[in-house]
Amino acid sequence: MPEQYEPARERHPAQRRSLEESVMYMVGLICAVVVGGFAVYRWVNGEHQRAIINIGIVATIAVPMLLGLSQAYRHVALKVFGSAISLGCVVSALFVSNNGLLWALMVLLVNSLTLSRRWALWLNIIVIVTLSASVHLYLSPLHHVSWSTVALLICGFSQMSMDQLRAQRQLLATQANVDPLTGVGNRRMMHQHLQEIVADRRREHNRGTLMVLDIDHFKKINDNHGHDVGDQVLVDITRSIAASLRTGDGFYRMGGEEFVILLRGMDAATAHSYLPALHDRLSGQVSTADGPVTFSAGVATLHSGEDWSQWLARADRVLYSAKSAGRNQLRFSDSP
Ligand code: GH3
Ligand code: MG
Ligand code: MG
Repeated sequence: MPEQYEPARERHPAQRRSLEESVMYMVGLICAVVVGGFAVYRWVNGEHQRAIINIGIVATIAVPMLLGLSQAYRHVALKVFGSAISLGCVVSALFVSNNGLLWALMVLLVNSLTLSRRWALWLNIIVIVTLSASVHLYLSPLHHVSWSTVALLICGFSQMSMDQLRAQRQLLATQANVDPLTGVGNRRMMHQHLQEIVADRRREHNRGTLMVLDIDHFKKINDNHGHDVGDQVLVDITRSIAASLRTGDGFYRMGGEEFVILLRGMDAATAHSYLPALHDRLSGQVSTADGPVTFSAGVATLHSGEDWSQWLARADRVLYSAKSAGRNQLRFSDSP
């Protein structure tokens, strides 16, 4: 099956900083400055052991922030950061001062904001259990119970809010990129994917082939059987085509009864040997009471130096020559 559902992407993922990463850098920088300041203060006042622990915490927090700058380690940076601040607040509370209890509340919130549900819950449970069990940190039983209650509430509320936010983010991304009738990518997703292929300088050759297809005499289906039957034909044709594509191919509805298939990495020679059979197999597979529903198609392989709109326009031009030539056929813009 081709890829269909993907989150919205306004910029290339490499350029975009997520909410989670922004929280990591903001919290990390503030903690580094404040805890670094404590380290200097304690060193000057002769509390060398505590100052060294503070310096250790700053260094541990700096590691994931540096990892986050590298594309290769970005995915682990948040987990390392969550682990570092969780460890940092526990060590600070146990060995430096019970001010660490306050920092721990912030850590519980940040873990929920930046980590997956599973990671956030595990780290937060470790922090809450360790600090709640360290009875000597509290001024009174009331203080002990209050801290533990507030910690649990912060952990629960922040996790609930993040679950909601992530569900809404996912819904928004789907609505922005997916055609609601057929479930394949929409024009917006297609633009993004074509731009990415054209911009991919690592693979100058064989970057891909586009197949633009348009259902033949679709208006007649609507006129003869009604709009609902027309809609069902669009859904059925989409399903039959999607089932024949390779994993990683893109499939989009450009609008109306026009679709685009992005065959990643396919050169002109392969397109010539593979696509006519695909067209023969799929065109006419769906039928109405009037008979099989066919489609015409235009195929273009990306040229170097071409932009995505020129590439798509070439495929569109040969599609219309397929229509003029009698429909239910495939035309190529490039020779094999
Ligand atoms: P050709 O073979 O030249 O492509 O003829 P055609 O009838 O397929 O092309 P034309 O562009 O004249 O008609 C396309 C029709 O598709 C017109 C429009 O009403 C219909 N259409 C567009 N979007 C939808 C939709 O979402 N659902 C339904 N049922 N019809 C749609
Ligand atoms: Mg048509
Ligand atoms: Mg059309």
